[in-house]
Amino acid sequence: MDTGDNPEQAAGGLPYQEVTRPEYATIAASAFTAEQAGPDVTVLRGPCPRCGAVIEALVVADVFQGVRSFGDIIRGRRAAPQPGEHVEPMACTCADEHPTRPEGRVGCGAYWKLLLTTEPA
Ligand SMILES: [Zn+2]
Ligand SMILES: [Zn+2]
Repeated sequence: MDTGDNPEQAAGGLPYQEVTRPEYATIAASAFTAEQAGPDVTVLRGPCPRCGAVIEALVVADVFQGVRSFGDIIRGRRAAPQPGEHVEPMACTCADEHPTRPEGRVGCGAYWKLLLTTEPA
């Protein structure tokens, strides 16, 4: 996978920062996979767009099979999710060391949204 356009990742010792960027949603949409883990449970798995650690998230709702880019909605090209789509807020939950992370927190602080669909990507 090409991470050459993520200079923060190469810097090392990435400090904890609660931050989101439009490109996090785009990067995550192309890198994350959705897998059925049980009735009405979907597991999302992929690398954090900020620190690169592979994380997993459970979504308990309908079973989603695809991950689409949320970018069109962020950029206003589309107003809202369509039927069969679901917006899932996500945050990095990695166990890596990130300086300045508050006690009891996980992840690097990055958060973003994924657009899930009931159809394969
Ligand atoms: Zn992260
Ligand atoms: Zn991390």
